[in-house]
Amino acid sequence: MRAALLVLLAAVPAWAGGALSVVTTSTDLQALVEAVGGDRVRVESLAPAAHEPHAVTVTPGQFEKLKAAALLVRIGLDHEPWLARVLRAANDPRFAPGSAHDLDVSKSVDLLQTATARVRGEGVAHVHGFGNPHYWLDPANARPMTGAILEALVRLAPDGRDVFAKNRARWLARLDDSLARWTRALAPYRGTRAVVVHDSWPYFARRFGLVVVAAVEPAPGVPPSAASLAALTAKMRQARVRLVIGEPSSNASLVSHVAARGGARAVVLVPSVGADPEAGDYVALFELDVRRLVEALGP
Ligand SMILES: [Zn+2]
Repeated sequence: MRAALLVLLAAVPAWAGGALSVVTTSTDLQALVEAVGGDRVRVESLAPAAHEPHAVTVTPGQFEKLKAAALLVRIGLDHEPWLARVLRAANDPRFAPGSAHDLDVSKSVDLLQTATARVRGEGVAHVHGFGNPHYWLDPANARPMTGAILEALVRLAPDGRDVFAKNRARWLARLDDSLARWTRALAPYRGTRAVVVHDSWPYFARRFGLVVVAAVEPAPGVPPSAASLAALTAKMRQARVRLVIGEPSSNASLVSHVAARGGARAVVLVPSVGADPEAGDYVALFELDVRRLVEALGP
């Protein structure tokens, strides 16, 4: 098996058919690499749009794509507890952290919650132990994120610099227009207090002026007890929380229970490109989430 993989690796050049082969650990990163790389990249996400952080299974086909890829782009921090196992199996020194073939995008953004001390262990948990990893949910972070992606692509394909830079500039201009519109749409709701199920939204909340008061999960990935739910809903009434933010993967009856007990409305926000049919790309993802928020908070 190992010998066969090495032969495959040697046989597949980084520039198969003129396109740079890239694998990412999320559909959001895939969307951003495609925005910069255009038709000069072929990108595959190893993880599906919606998944539990512990339950990502890389298929043999995806594993072959990783082995043949010129670049691995990842969220970093402890967002991918499954990746260490996959990289050990691939046993490819090109993907050593810090190499030209490895891009940890978390290094390009200002992180939130880095001081939160939490128990952590490789392959065991996605507990936000190194800072909150959901940084792609601030659309303004797409600027430094695509900047890092641009530099990584240029390192591997220097003659693509102008094309990549033009793609990125055009894409960011469209994103900036959209961001201005989203900011206006949510302006009437600045200061709205919200409870989240999983702590995915601090970057989004900071951008659009929502105040996250608490999370239903007492710690990331930990389900609430009956006692913690009762304390939470009492706190919600006290703090006049108006909104409970769930995700497509959240337990829907838990979300509506917390909203009803806490005197708030429930909304399902989509955390990743492709996790809802309407969230087909990075801009569409926020288009959908902003619309759902306006609907939930409106009269
Ligand atoms: Zn998380």
